[in-house]
Amino acid sequence: MAELARDRGIVLRTQDYAETDRIAVLLTSRGRLDVLAKGARRLERSTGAALDPLHVVDVIHYRRRGLHLLKEASFVRTFPAVRGDLERATAALKALRWVVDLVPTGAPDDRPYTLTLEFLAALDGGLHPPVFTAAYALRLLSVAGLEPHLAGCVRCARTEDLTWSPEHGGLLCARCGGRGTPVSARLWRSLDALARLPFPALARLKLSDEDLAIGVALLHQFRAAQLGR
Ligand SMILES: [Zn+2]
Repeated sequence: MAELARDRGIVLRTQDYAETDRIAVLLTSRGRLDVLAKGARRLERSTGAALDPLHVVDVIHYRRRGLHLLKEASFVRTFPAVRGDLERATAALKALRWVVDLVPTGAPDDRPYTLTLEFLAALDGGLHPPVFTAAYALRLLSVAGLEPHLAGCVRCARTEDLTWSPEHGGLLCARCGGRGTPVSARLWRSLDALARLPFPALARLKLSDEDLAIGVALLHQFRAAQLGR
């Protein structure tokens, strides 16, 4: 019998596989873990149901031919206010896609897991979904080692005429050759605050949903440029 391993993780997404199997992508304190649940779609009410996205689960698994095969999955907790609300659930599921892109499998770093749990709990506790999306994306980029430069121009530190320049790592002023989307002082200071403030202060930030949407679009551009796609 192969050696059994136990992990606790957040289900990021699931995908049907072969006739009756399912692959669940988990974020654990040891990075991303993809487990193959044999027959999961025939066992919807036991193992299969524990593996729903946004559930925190304990899994027992073993390796066979390069795959992690699931032996057992048990439900630990979920975020009922997120799962029960379309706007929150959509924000959470979109955010979890960033994890799939930014966190490698088997990475010995527990920060993405801790960060994701904290943010899902805050969203469940009433954090405004657009604030959740922007603040979480910024912090996940940071723990992935891809923090955008937000304190003035990346070359000369000027704080005027700033533009968004993902290929240079963040803000670049017009004098230094910045030709991207202009970024107002209000917007970059807001992004900087979203990247750093603790949850109680995040909830008090006065930001328009329009500014938050622009900020998230800039972060999408940034992620794509950093990942080369
Ligand atoms: Zn400059």
